[in-house]
Amino acid sequence: LLAFLYLRPGLNSVYSEHSFAIYPLATAAAGGEHRVAKTSDGFSHDLDAMAAAIDANTRIVFLGNPNNPTGTIYRRAEWKRFLERVPENVVIVADEAYFEFVRDPQYPDSMEDHDDRRLLITLRTFSKIFGLAGMRVGYAVARPDMIQMLHNVRQPFNVTSLAQVAAIAGMDDRAHIARTLQVNADGMTYLEREFVRLKLPFVPSHANFFLVDVGDGRAVYDKLLRKGVIVRPMHGYGYPRHVRISVGLPEENRRLVAMLAEAMGAQS
Ligand SMILES: *Cc1c(COP(=O)(O)O)cnc(C)c1O
Repeated sequence: LLAFLYLRPGLNSVYSEHSFAIYPLATAAAGGEHRVAKTSDGFSHDLDAMAAAIDANTRIVFLGNPNNPTGTIYRRAEWKRFLERVPENVVIVADEAYFEFVRDPQYPDSMEDHDDRRLLITLRTFSKIFGLAGMRVGYAVARPDMIQMLHNVRQPFNVTSLAQVAAIAGMDDRAHIARTLQVNADGMTYLEREFVRLKLPFVPSHANFFLVDVGDGRAVYDKLLRKGVIVRPMHGYGYPRHVRISVGLPEENRRLVAMLAEAMGAQS
């Protein structure tokens, strides 16, 4: 909706390489042009490079924090510097689909940076920590005039009544959120240890998945699939050596590790 609202041929969006696939798709769907900023280390958003990529035709900057598929974050000092640099006519999209999982004290909650001057919009979802991806429900926080324009372009009744019931129940279920955070934290500790044991390089993650260097992402994805374990190959994101592995329940994590060890062994 944001892309259709703010982009058209001749106008562009700025986003980082190796960031969420929907940013280029939405930009292309609206006929917009793409200005892709380099990462700082091959994985992390470089907000200075993103600010520098903004030109007179830029209308949107998309930021994933944490980013999917890398699990990386940018921190408060970098974010504040970025906010100072972005022109006031550029929409800053803070896509925080995984913010509930983040434990880093320097993580910037963009909700604190809304004012009546900036075109800042915070995007959140019930698809991740609430486990309601099939319900297709999320939310945006922005100035009333921006929200009103989004209402004008969205379809009427675009969130079903069942999805609304599920989302409200999810928000009220503090115990489920706490349990999910604990299961994820324990799963991450376990998987990190096992990746080290298997000598598989991985990107330290702030979300509920890992980007793991398995040498040949497509081959390992295929081998795991045959064993009934679904990971994501990452060549489409510019990482042909990697797969993205979601943290699961303890028995699922153990099974993943066993099958991964087998797949890697069979490969070498
Ligand atoms: C999952 C995700 C979203 C939102 O997904 P929906 O299921 O459409 O709500 C947004 N951004 C990122 C980076 C995501 O990973």
